[in-house]
Amino acid sequence: MSAHIWSANYKERILPLLEPMGFITQPDWTSCGACSFGHASLLLGETMSHDQAQKRCRTVSIPAAFRRKFAVNHLRNPRQLYQRIADAAGTDPGWIVWAIKNMNWNPIECNTFVETEALGFVDHHLDNGHPVIISVDDATHWAVLAGKISKDYVLIDSGIGQQVFSTYTRNSLLERRWYALCDNCEGTGFREGTICDACLGSCYERYGIVIDPGNHLSRHLQSNARTIIEALMGNHLLQEYWGYYLDDLTDVFDAHHGAGSAPASDFFENHEEDILEAVSYWLIGVTKPEVRRELKHYRAVAESYPLYYRSAETARVLAHFQAAFMGMLIEDYL
Ligand SMILES: [Zn+2]
Repeated sequence: MSAHIWSANYKERILPLLEPMGFITQPDWTSCGACSFGHASLLLGETMSHDQAQKRCRTVSIPAAFRRKFAVNHLRNPRQLYQRIADAAGTDPGWIVWAIKNMNWNPIECNTFVETEALGFVDHHLDNGHPVIISVDDATHWAVLAGKISKDYVLIDSGIGQQVFSTYTRNSLLERRWYALCDNCEGTGFREGTICDACLGSCYERYGIVIDPGNHLSRHLQSNARTIIEALMGNHLLQEYWGYYLDDLTDVFDAHHGAGSAPASDFFENHEEDILEAVSYWLIGVTKPEVRRELKHYRAVAESYPLYYRSAETARVLAHFQAAFMGMLIEDYL
């Protein structure tokens, strides 16, 4: 492989996996669990790269599953071999729970055949601003319930060919995404002529893991869940780079309100035009509308979390923010 191809490959395929992830479509078939964990963490104000998310969730890639499960005598039954590999690849719920605990957050699991119980559980936690990672599509895929817009559920889905953000009504969520057929009756509701004693005829099992960050939270969405969702829906650039912006912002702003603190929104309100002027002056080659759009993105992310700065340190914050902002523009535009 020539150095040129290697470097193009590195920049386009490998580097993005090491940078802070945004709300993205999964880059391969096996990382829906890791992406869902990364997406839920972003909602709670924590950034990580796709690679870190995979490591935290112990996601098993197809090649790793192959190495683990392959034996020469399996070649006689390729279909069975395929099944063994498919079963071993992906992310196990136990490892998602483990990854949540490792963040010092509290995982709460729900596993029920009763529809109203499943929805009640989800509604209660979404109302409190806690994301729920759910097992969807007959337990073959993971996605995240982020919150509700009036009565509809907002699902963040990294699935290839899916919109990352979409809304579901109560029924379409249960029927199209959040379901797993009962293993006992396989969705018929009956077993040997009687009502299935595992699911009691409901046919579908619903499994979800809530992330309750408890007190171990640096930046908490809480009542801003709605703001974040509204900022993100339909804005694909913002979705993809959300982690990037957040990563820069958390270097500059504080997560806690202290004496003399002002919200980050004040900072943007007071200094947006000055930053725009200064940065456009120094960076020839980036147009003013581009600078304005990027600044708007930073502001949207900053206003989605409770981030603060000390008014007495405005000059320092301004210098730090401008440095981060210019660094990003140079990297991405020049
Ligand atoms: Zn059943």
